[in-house]
Amino acid sequence: MNYEVVIGLEIHVELDTVSKMFCGCSTKFFGEKPNTFTCPVCLGMPGSLPVANEKAIECTAKIGLALNSKIASFTKFDRKNYFYPDMPKDYQISQYDLPICEGGYVDIEMEGLALEGSGSRGYTRRVGITRVHLEEDTGKLTHIGESGRIGGADYSLVDFNRAGVPLVEIVTEPDIRTPDEAKIFVQKLKNIIEHLGVSDCDMEEGSFRCDANISLRPMGSKELGTKSEVKNMNSFRAIQRALVYEIERQRELLRADERVIQETRHWDAANNVTMSLRSKEEAHDYRYFPEPDLVPMELSGEWIEDLKNTLPELPDARKKRFVEAYGLSVYDAELLTSSKTMGDYFEECARAYNDAKKISNWIMGEFSMHLNATNLKIEESAVTPKHLVQLLRLIDKGQISGKMAKDVFKEMFESGKLPKIIVEERGLSQISDEDAIEKIVDMVLEENKKAVEEYGSGKDRALGFLVGQVMRLTKGSANPQLVNEILRKKLT
Ligand SMILES: [Zn+2]
Repeated sequence: MNYEVVIGLEIHVELDTVSKMFCGCSTKFFGEKPNTFTCPVCLGMPGSLPVANEKAIECTAKIGLALNSKIASFTKFDRKNYFYPDMPKDYQISQYDLPICEGGYVDIEMEGLALEGSGSRGYTRRVGITRVHLEEDTGKLTHIGESGRIGGADYSLVDFNRAGVPLVEIVTEPDIRTPDEAKIFVQKLKNIIEHLGVSDCDMEEGSFRCDANISLRPMGSKELGTKSEVKNMNSFRAIQRALVYEIERQRELLRADERVIQETRHWDAANNVTMSLRSKEEAHDYRYFPEPDLVPMELSGEWIEDLKNTLPELPDARKKRFVEAYGLSVYDAELLTSSKTMGDYFEECARAYNDAKKISNWIMGEFSMHLNATNLKIEESAVTPKHLVQLLRLIDKGQISGKMAKDVFKEMFESGKLPKIIVEERGLSQISDEDAIEKIVDMVLEENKKAVEEYGSGKDRALGFLVGQVMRLTKGSANPQLVNEILRKKLT
């Protein structure tokens, strides 16, 4: 039997506000001592009262607007009751039936991938958004002596610095059909949120976290199969690999006529497997009820409209503009707008240098190759837009050849030195002096009479050979265009 894969995602995004969700504690505790960014409110002391952070509500509504959601005119907070040592109050302030945003969608472009059951390559998948709500983050547990076994720690330490950081949860409809689609969706969502500037979206630091619900059903069936929920996927690669693994695990169970158990599973990246964590709590186990310490909120149409007007340019619009304003191909524009920092980098170069295609070729070719090899992001690289533009100008002036430029690029990537300095230090310069080239050309013609004759009898290949000889004698430093011109002139 053939099965259809059904995937829905839950993404948690820590907002980059100055203070926490319900108290005045700073959120800038990264690298600081545990439990030093806390107060009676975020430690859940009896008698302390929460006050909602207006900025966080604004950021959540912005995310909703960017995802085409409807922003609620009436919304409230609820208590979600469960017991876990990383949560000081033994309940979490979250939202239940009246989230800030409902509905919406994100379209993802699946370039070069075939939709199952159709031969055509490249398709668009619309992923529905169920809701976007706001809650508070929990503290952080560190398990000591865990030795890789879940639940096998000797003891655990708890740090409440993170407790109470505003956390947005984005839930998708079960519209995703493949691990590739899931990966592309999460990449696009992260890109949108980075453009909004409401979170640093650092997956490794946990400020952008993804859980997936996966089930299989017989092809053509409308009913959903039993799902498992996979947690702890902290990179795009992990999302894809975990889903591939989980789909295969469920498929084997179903083929063997066994039951898929509804449970939470943990992605173990080191061993490339998902492992059972706990059987899934039913929704009513949380005993949701309206948070009595916070008043419900009314978001006026005017407030929402004003917020809409403050939205920055988002990735889809930016991509379109890159095609129209810079004359780039859709493919190039897609890659250059795939992250905010990449798009910003490109635009800073384009303001200083007016051949967008050349900038794009360098960013996507040589630059990306070095970034991938060193696992760096473009903004972490020592090569700033100033470096790249200076390099392009040196090529334009004929001071260095394209081949030399690649070597110079490698050195500036490693050392951060400006290309002009590297060229000077290494004594690099392309021979663009006609007289100097002419002398070498004469020498080559004298030594390669056979090739000269061959060229005379119509063999164009011979010209390439002669150019090669000149380049060899000049150790690659002659301007190839000039060599070509001078050779042709002499031969005719
Ligand atoms: Zn606090």
